[in-house]
Amino acid sequence: MLCYPHGCMSGVALDGKRIKEEIEQELRPRIAALRERKRAPSIAVVLVGDDPASQIYVRSKIKTCAELGITSIDVTPDSKISTEELLDIVDSFNRDSAIDGILVQSPLPNQIDERTILLAIAPDKDVDGFHPFNVGNLVANRPAPRACTPAGIIEMLKRYRISIAGKHAVIVGRSNIVGKPMALMLLHENATVTICHSRTRDLAAECRRADILVAATGKAGLITANHIQPGTVVVDVGMNRITNETLAMRLVGYDEKRVAAFRKNRQILVGDVDPQAMQQISSYYTPVPGGVGPLTIAMLMSNTVLLAEQHLQ
Ligand code: NDP
Repeated sequence: MLCYPHGCMSGVALDGKRIKEEIEQELRPRIAALRERKRAPSIAVVLVGDDPASQIYVRSKIKTCAELGITSIDVTPDSKISTEELLDIVDSFNRDSAIDGILVQSPLPNQIDERTILLAIAPDKDVDGFHPFNVGNLVANRPAPRACTPAGIIEMLKRYRISIAGKHAVIVGRSNIVGKPMALMLLHENATVTICHSRTRDLAAECRRADILVAATGKAGLITANHIQPGTVVVDVGMNRITNETLAMRLVGYDEKRVAAFRKNRQILVGDVDPQAMQQISSYYTPVPGGVGPLTIAMLMSNTVLLAEQHLQ
């Protein structure tokens, strides 16, 4: 096995599946109480078209709902649906008092005005925490549904007792769904925060200043050994399905099982961080798969229960 001169140790893998189960166990009595007092929490999931990746995500969300006793209603309009028709669907769920949360799975087809759809979801049914009203609440650090992926990362860091206050957190990526809310949540936990993006001048130098490094770029293997200082906590949000053999071998060539999986399926799921560098140089790291991914669904369930409790009040 190759060994990086500045870090031939082994970081601790943060187990997203375990934390997901923990969060779900804590939700069960709250769900039972809601059922007793009124009805099960409920979520409406809208999946437009037949994008295979979106279908997988939606299926696993619905499966988790069923396991927890959350009612889910899924609607799957044709990919040719217009913005107006989709608005009608959202509006009907907004007006339906039996629905606590509404999720419109992205990406949406090009003809749909995604921003208009996002704005149409009632803020008190916004399970994804993407509505500008809830983003404003996040900025002001007021209670509201939070974007699931960054909220899950905060949960994971806290449950592993990884301290955040006073640490320098570097986030690579500034999207509205991961990078920006992540920066705000870390700031509210009293980290000193740097946000990097595609125009950052010396990305490696910025990353090396991190105590906590969060990579959310969608660029397979962008973060290498050159970006990581020994002892950094590395959170890899990336979910990249790659088919390029050279890249796959660069990233997973050290792992016989993953090489075999690639040869069999001609594709493999990797993060934004070189996995071997991450394992050897970090103090803690989130593997892909099995790190951040499961937490996104757990926090979606948590937001649904929270909204149902608020509706009961
Ligand atoms: P976006 O494409 O919306 O944003 C990517 C960000 O990365 C942008 O801010 C972009 O900068 C930045 N970036 C791209 N290339 C570089 C570069 N070379 N150097 C520095 N910054 C760069 O992606 P998302 O935030 O939606 O998702 C990011 C990744 O996280 C994806 O792989 C996605 O699949 C995954 N993801 C995983 C989830 C999970 O549950 N595990 C949930 C959500 C996302 P700029 O703004 O300048 O263009």
